[in-house]
Amino acid sequence: MLLMLTRILCPPQLSYELIVVGTGLAGASAAATLAELGYNIKAFCFQDSARRAHSIAAQGGINAAKNYQNDGDSVYRLFYDTLKGGDFRSREANVYRLAEISGQIIDHCVAQGVPFAREYGGLLANLSFGGAQVARTFYTRGQTGQQLLLGAYSALSRQIAAGKVKLFPRTEMLDLVIIDGKARGIVIRNLISGQIESHCAHAVLLCTGGYSNVFFLSTNARGANITAAWQAYKKGALFANPSFIQIHPTCIPVYEHHQSKLTLMSESLRNDGRV
Ligand SMILES: Cc1cc2nc3c(=O)[nH]c(=O)nc-3n(C[C@H](O)[C@H](O)[C@H](O)COP(=O)(O)OP(=O)(O)OC[C@H]3O[C@@H](n4cnc5c(N)ncnc54)[C@H](O)[C@@H]3O)c2cc1C
Repeated sequence: MLLMLTRILCPPQLSYELIVVGTGLAGASAAATLAELGYNIKAFCFQDSARRAHSIAAQGGINAAKNYQNDGDSVYRLFYDTLKGGDFRSREANVYRLAEISGQIIDHCVAQGVPFAREYGGLLANLSFGGAQVARTFYTRGQTGQQLLLGAYSALSRQIAAGKVKLFPRTEMLDLVIIDGKARGIVIRNLISGQIESHCAHAVLLCTGGYSNVFFLSTNARGANITAAWQAYKKGALFANPSFIQIHPTCIPVYEHHQSKLTLMSESLRNDGRV
């Protein structure tokens, strides 16, 4: 009983410090949510503001099995569509979990103030996006990522003001510190002064985005360069499947007429006589 009371009055997470590297949709929401739960967070990013992460470029929307359109959608259908869309190569347990909590993700974002598109009657609107059999995409015009990031950033700012998150903008993670097989800290460079410092914590979360910039042509932000994840890989972290990478058709150069459907945009430019 005494232990329970102590835990309620002084939950153990209050004494834990966590490092979150990256403040895109993954990092900003993880930092804000963990801080809300009581953890003490140090958050790091390249940019001068957490709002400038590459996530801001995402346009389309988020799929969630809310079945607002009453067209037979369900957690199972979203799970199946997503697996099929991933050529049956995705990890099923993870995809199922994603489908299961998809509705809550939308509710969470709405609570953060994300202005998803709505029908005239006031209900959240849905589009039918590629690879999906039903209309289940929640969106905000062509700026879904930007609006989501603003929502996550607001939640993060609230925790910064509450003193639970300390933000370190314009910093680059250079190395990961491992103690007894666990990630316990990072080495960073201050991108303004060039000064190198180290920070320790009980755990480190790497939310450092994709790695499209390993390719010469990419529409991803220059910061999506895998520098942080590469350090973790060098320290023994496993790399699951490098074939899962986002590409955009517009950056594939045209070299023959029947090259691939992926060159749709370039192809139409060529038909217009513009390339
Ligand atoms: C044009 C476009 C359209 C898209 N459309 C959709 C869509 O419709 N639906 C959808 O679900 N997804 C879409 N995506 C994909 C989605 O945007 C990304 O998967 C998602 O935003 C990645 O978020 P993230 O937080 O993991 O990474 P990011 O937003 O890239 O954030 C990475 C963070 O890590 C930091 N960082 C990286 N390396 C270091 C380092 N060494 N040291 C310090 N900090 C570091 C950066 O500063 C940044 O803050 C789209 C993407 C693009 C480009």
